Amino acid sequence: MSTDTSGKVTAARLRRDAYLYIRQSTLYQVANNTESTARQYDLRGRAVALGWPADRIHVIDIDQGHSGASSADREGFQHLVAEVSLGRAGIILGLECSRLARNNADWHRLLQICAHNDTLILDEDGLYDPTSFNDRLLLGMKGQLSEAELHFLRARLRGGILAKARRGELQLPLPIGLAYDSRGETVLDADGAVRQAISLLFDTFTATGSAFAVVRAFRQAQLTFPARHRGGPRAGELYFKTLTHDQVLKILHNPCYAGAYCYGRARHITDLDGHHRTLTKPAEDWTVLLPDHHPGYITWPRYQANLQVLAANAAARGDNRTAGPAREGPALLQGLIICGRCGRRMTVRYHTRADSTIVPDYVCQNDGISNARPICQHLPGAVLDTAVAGLLLATLSPLALEVALTVTDELAAQAGHADALRAAHVQRAQHAADQARRRYLAVDPGNRLVADALEADWNARLRELATAHDDYTTAKSATAVLDDQQRARIRALAADFPALWHDPATPMRERKRLIRLLITDVTLTRGDYAITAAVRLPGGQHHTLNLPIPLNAWQQRKTPQPVIEQIDQLLGGHTYSQVACILNQRGLTSGESKPWDAGRVRAHCFTRHIPSLWQRLRDTGMLTLDEAARQLHAHPSSIKRWYRLGLITGHLADDRGTCLYHPGQARPGPAQVEATGKALGDSHRSGRSYHPDLGGPLPKNVSATRNTQQNSSNTT
Ligand SMILES: [Zn+2]
Repeated sequence: MSTDTSGKVTAARLRRDAYLYIRQSTLYQVANNTESTARQYDLRGRAVALGWPADRIHVIDIDQGHSGASSADREGFQHLVAEVSLGRAGIILGLECSRLARNNADWHRLLQICAHNDTLILDEDGLYDPTSFNDRLLLGMKGQLSEAELHFLRARLRGGILAKARRGELQLPLPIGLAYDSRGETVLDADGAVRQAISLLFDTFTATGSAFAVVRAFRQAQLTFPARHRGGPRAGELYFKTLTHDQVLKILHNPCYAGAYCYGRARHITDLDGHHRTLTKPAEDWTVLLPDHHPGYITWPRYQANLQVLAANAAARGDNRTAGPAREGPALLQGLIICGRCGRRMTVRYHTRADSTIVPDYVCQNDGISNARPICQHLPGAVLDTAVAGLLLATLSPLALEVALTVTDELAAQAGHADALRAAHVQRAQHAADQARRRYLAVDPGNRLVADALEADWNARLRELATAHDDYTTAKSATAVLDDQQRARIRALAADFPALWHDPATPMRERKRLIRLLITDVTLTRGDYAITAAVRLPGGQHHTLNLPIPLNAWQQRKTPQPVIEQIDQLLGGHTYSQVACILNQRGLTSGESKPWDAGRVRAHCFTRHIPSLWQRLRDTGMLTLDEAARQLHAHPSSIKRWYRLGLITGHLADDRGTCLYHPGQARPGPAQVEATGKALGDSHRSGRSYHPDLGGPLPKNVSATRNTQQNSSNTT
């Protein structure tokens, strides 16, 4: 049937071109399996025999060295499909159907397209017309067989590999620092320099807790890291290169260094678009994992601890950052603080004071940065650090630990009661299950309906028993009782902790590591008058600290309001220097802790708009010298003299000796001035010593002119 070519090679098909598809799966086959290639090219002769002119037979051989398992990345195959789809192909030729497509989906698609476009298919066994049912059936089966062949081939190969790997005997490429000895056993590298470099890497990671810090340490010490050529003429030869971050990560993640043998750490998947990808599987999904398979550089627990540190570090990146590695800066709560307003992780910011101490601040600025809004909240760090450290030291005091140990004992006693209750529950479940079993066994097997119901009941009882048993074991393991040795260790720790904490030689990073062991996180909220810090401890305990908001630099230097009020009060009757004198006598200082003087008092009043004594007196209607002179029709110097002699009243208004005079006073008569001057022994009685005319009483008209003269000379 399929070899019957007469009806299949029609004129319409001959008018279109023939396409010969040639492929070898691997480059090895391309190089060595030349016979197969020659046979594939021979098919061209068959096409000529069927009537296609030689110049219209197109050879597609650009897919040499590609596997047929998928059509992706096989340009030639896709070109072939395109030609068929466009109706340009009358026939396609291939050595075996399997050479066209090893994948059933690809193959059936090709068959469908060929049937639709009326294209023949020719292989070594015969000529097929995909439009005919019989031929399509045969081609379909050939495709199935071809895929099955590939599967069995793979399964056989993989089965052998897996069996060997399960015994830990399959030799896999080893990372630097490990090698196979003459018997095929995995041993540490014979080269001491290589071993030292790898040990140093692990030790540095333990000391710093970060892969990046390892790279930095190597770079700062100008150390290089060993590697071996994998292939080529220098295969196995040692060379040294700079250590990179991804290399450190690879080494830390590689279980071989912990002496474990593992196989199947990655999964290879093919995307829908045919691309291959390699995914790393989690450790529990590895195909083979044999701990203690060979000598390693670190122990298995240390390997797992390293992975935990790396995972915690990685969590520091991304949207909602959790704690990153402890760093050197003095912000104690770095990586532990959560914003009480929006729930995001807060960051650390430092500022330097004038005395060059570095002060931490805790800032929630994530949202502010991404959305160009004001930052969520900003808290002074020093006061928080002190409070939290104080809380820790108080929590870990020997007394507190004794209390905790007593509570643990009480809990253990209570747990004993609960344990008996749970054990009774298991017993009851066991009893119910036994009963159900007996009922099931006693029933007549012929009575199917009853037997089925009893069997279902028995199953349900067994499930309940299993659950009760599980609960019992979980609860029992959760209430572990401390032995004497553990108690002694806990007590010793409480005594050591404050000493270690206060030791100036303890680096900040170590303090932060200590605090991370004892505190899960701290949620900070800034209120109007206080900061609330909710401290969460690993045992599920909470502590809430309420701290006053520390004053700003300017607030700290601000003069307290009560002092300002005193100044205001004193200025009712005293000049600036008198006020300063009284304040100093009362032991008060300015906000900057400086003693008072007239200038400082004046400056304080000026900025706070506190009126001066002069202003206050003027406000009550008191007169200046000139005003008083005009009112009393006297020369200003007479006013001064009368005031000195106590004949008129006034008040000292400032530190320069300026006086203000009460209004509406009577002008003293000349006889009164003379008498009082004599009585007081006033040297200016006659006034001649410094101004011959001004002392005595003057006729009214003269006085008036003198006053105006004086006024005009004042204004000029
Ligand atoms: Zn916030």
